[in-house]
Amino acid sequence: MTISVQQVERRQDYDGTSPFPGAEEHVTAGRAVVALTAAIVILPFLALGVAIFLAWGQGVAFTDLLLAAGFYVVTGLGVTVGFHRLLTHASFTARPWLRVALAIAGSMSFQGNLIGWVATHRRHHAFTDQPGDPHSPYRYGTGLRGQLRGLAHAHTGWLFTDDRTPAERYAPDLLADPAMTRITRAFPALCTLSLALPFLAGWAITSTLYGGLTAFLWAGLIRIALLQHITWSVNSLCHLIGSRPFKTRRHDRSTNLWPLALLSFGESWHNGHHSEPTCARHGLEHGQTDPAAAAIRLFERLGWASDVHWPDPDRIQRRRTTLPSQARAPGAD
Ligand SMILES: [Zn+2]
Ligand SMILES: [Zn+2]
Repeated sequence: MTISVQQVERRQDYDGTSPFPGAEEHVTAGRAVVALTAAIVILPFLALGVAIFLAWGQGVAFTDLLLAAGFYVVTGLGVTVGFHRLLTHASFTARPWLRVALAIAGSMSFQGNLIGWVATHRRHHAFTDQPGDPHSPYRYGTGLRGQLRGLAHAHTGWLFTDDRTPAERYAPDLLADPAMTRITRAFPALCTLSLALPFLAGWAITSTLYGGLTAFLWAGLIRIALLQHITWSVNSLCHLIGSRPFKTRRHDRSTNLWPLALLSFGESWHNGHHSEPTCARHGLEHGQTDPAAAAIRLFERLGWASDVHWPDPDRIQRRRTTLPSQARAPGAD
């Protein structure tokens, strides 16, 4: 979708509570795209039911859980550190091999190809919670019905619409990078690898085909479903519920939601992120768990990452809308 003059006008008219102008106009994607997206969205989730059925009464093999955790961390850091903090926002510079490794790991998370992901996310920052945002829970207004509908749209509904973000406009830097275009094109192969590796690992460790299949279920499909829904929750819940300690742009309603901090690798400190998008740490306040920032710190110590944009305390202080809890005088509440 290109940003037309008409859309810019619509954006200026937006009052922050009404449905977005033209909210009902979106067109469902073609049948093939819908079928493929449905498979990517629904199949990993259905696997959870199959796995619970199989595990009922006999528990889950420790190997499967260990493999699932390993693949979750690698692909999760690929998305948060690679796709998001490095490639979308350039919050640090990575050695070329690390940049490639992170882009490959992120592609294995079944969240769409690299350049498409980055372009869509940059558009989300350009139009946050106003007309033009690809996945805002405020699309259908702030009434109860509109809000519930918007939540479903922001979580997965938007994936089924024909609202392509032009990469030429939003990610020309990545289109000009041969390594990144190659990884983008290899997305289907990397998805296959993301399912094949857990199967092969489970098979090798247990020496049984059944061991390979349960590893495929837990460390393949269920791991993918969990990471997908955590990422999509940042798009949906982290613009709807939680605290807003930092100033953001007009209409932007991003929030900090602590229960998702660990599983989202720190991405659920989403208000902090929208306030300081190029900062390598999203948990801007003391004690906010941010595993992705910890990984970037480790890469920096090892000499693999440089030019890291760490939070500037004075700047952060100026961005506050509330006093930090640890700075309050006793009894000031
Ligand atoms: Zn956001
Ligand atoms: Zn972002």
